[in-house]
Amino acid sequence: MTATPTIGVLALQGDVREHVLALEACGAFAQRVRRPEELTHLDGLIIPGGESTTISKLAVAFDVMEPLRERIAGGLPTYGSCAGMILLADRILDAPGDQETIGGMDATVRRNAFGRQVDSFEAELAIDGVEGVPLHAVFIRAPWVESLGPAATALGTVATGPAAGRIVAIRQQHLLATSFHPELTGDRRVHEYFCEMVKGER
Ligand code: GLN
Repeated sequence: MTATPTIGVLALQGDVREHVLALEACGAFAQRVRRPEELTHLDGLIIPGGESTTISKLAVAFDVMEPLRERIAGGLPTYGSCAGMILLADRILDAPGDQETIGGMDATVRRNAFGRQVDSFEAELAIDGVEGVPLHAVFIRAPWVESLGPAATALGTVATGPAAGRIVAIRQQHLLATSFHPELTGDRRVHEYFCEMVKGER
């Protein structure tokens, strides 16, 4: 890989542009991806926030679901934020019965888990491996990780309030997922962490 990794952003639905800008700020070459052939030359991939049911249906309709599964299972470093976390989970709760995920992470993720009263909120979070002051995390109808299998590790939990202790950031080898949206803040530390994963530095 060159010093400038090529990182795709799955561009079926969701906040694609924000991830593209965050990747560019980290020095990566960002590329929108919709078709199977666009996956072949990537060094990494981001699955954005949005609506996981819609992204999933469009991935099937664009014939990109199976190629995504193959590339991700084959070791492509991949980061999912919010809806992207749902799509990377092997098991999901509170989802329509026919909602497919791409899978790869040994985790059970509950959609819209924080409930109506706090369906969107912001919180300060410490994430293992992210140095410095806590991250300002933006949650929008976010999922949480209900449980983790042995292959995956929690990197961060909600610190206070009714959801204290809930897991909202996870890692499993080449896969990373957060319940929140670092692409919506100016803080690039999560994208930098992911770019370092792509370069094999983490
Ligand atoms: N609630 C959405 C879903 O289930 C995720 C929301 C988001 O990505 N901000 O897909």
